[in-house]
Amino acid sequence: MFAQFKTLPQLFDFFKDEQTCTEYWEQIRWNGKVTCTHCGAENPYKTNRGYKCKNVECQKKFSTLTGSIFENSKLPLRTWFGAIYLCCNHKKGISSLQLSRDLGIHQKSAWFLLHRIRETLKELAPEALGGDGVIVETDTTIVGGKVRNMTKKKRKEILKDTPKRWENKTTVSAYVERGGKIRFDVVDGNETKPALLKKHVDTTSVLMTDTDKAYKIVGKEYALHETVNHEQDEYVRGAAHTNTIEGAFSLFDRMIIGTYHGVSKKHMQAYCNESVYRYNTKKLEGNTRFSDVVLKCSGLRLRYNTLIAK
Ligand SMILES: [Zn+2]
Repeated sequence: MFAQFKTLPQLFDFFKDEQTCTEYWEQIRWNGKVTCTHCGAENPYKTNRGYKCKNVECQKKFSTLTGSIFENSKLPLRTWFGAIYLCCNHKKGISSLQLSRDLGIHQKSAWFLLHRIRETLKELAPEALGGDGVIVETDTTIVGGKVRNMTKKKRKEILKDTPKRWENKTTVSAYVERGGKIRFDVVDGNETKPALLKKHVDTTSVLMTDTDKAYKIVGKEYALHETVNHEQDEYVRGAAHTNTIEGAFSLFDRMIIGTYHGVSKKHMQAYCNESVYRYNTKKLEGNTRFSDVVLKCSGLRLRYNTLIAK
């Protein structure tokens, strides 16, 4: 079953009821062959509430949602599908407040739902970017709200954990293949810029950075290392520039500031994943991207308690 829609009303026409959503989900998840979520055995019994495994050593019951991000959710799949579409198609994301209004659900549900969707957008086994002569730009940006603009309660909460105001800011490092994929990584303070660079970018690549001293030595390990001196107003010199990454940062900033009004360090990586996913799938049609995200929903589950844990 291929999802045919180009707009949100068309999506809701296509997924006209919960039955259609479930059939679509089972098709995506199991390719039509229902499989036990506990042991992987095929052809389980259908019970009136879900399925039961035929394997004598297992015999466990499961539903079509067991083990997926939808498990234990009180919201219908139809609402989830609408949310996935909105979250992945808005260039700058969608806030939980906006989503709660659009879908007629509580804001807290919308917030949790969006976080579960973000969890699925995480790159599972990320390989180094670049490769033989591929140009890769790298840069870091600092994001984070000004503590003085926050409510008294929030300010107290943050200053309790981080006594210095600037510490609320989060450093994000970014790597982008020119004409290819991007990656954002929240810098946790334990890894140095050269170590992060080598983790994310293959050394056979052509590296483009600004004149940050941190890249000077590690840059020699790359096929070629070109720099532009932003301090001296040099932004482009032939093929040497970091404009791709600047463009991605500007979109990311507009998402964090414009849509989410600042994000805490704890959740920053999740928002990075969201932004990266949209960037890396920008050539896909809305419905193809939708199916891709629904497929990702099958193996992951994010519990509310994990999400709010310090
Ligand atoms: Zn089983």
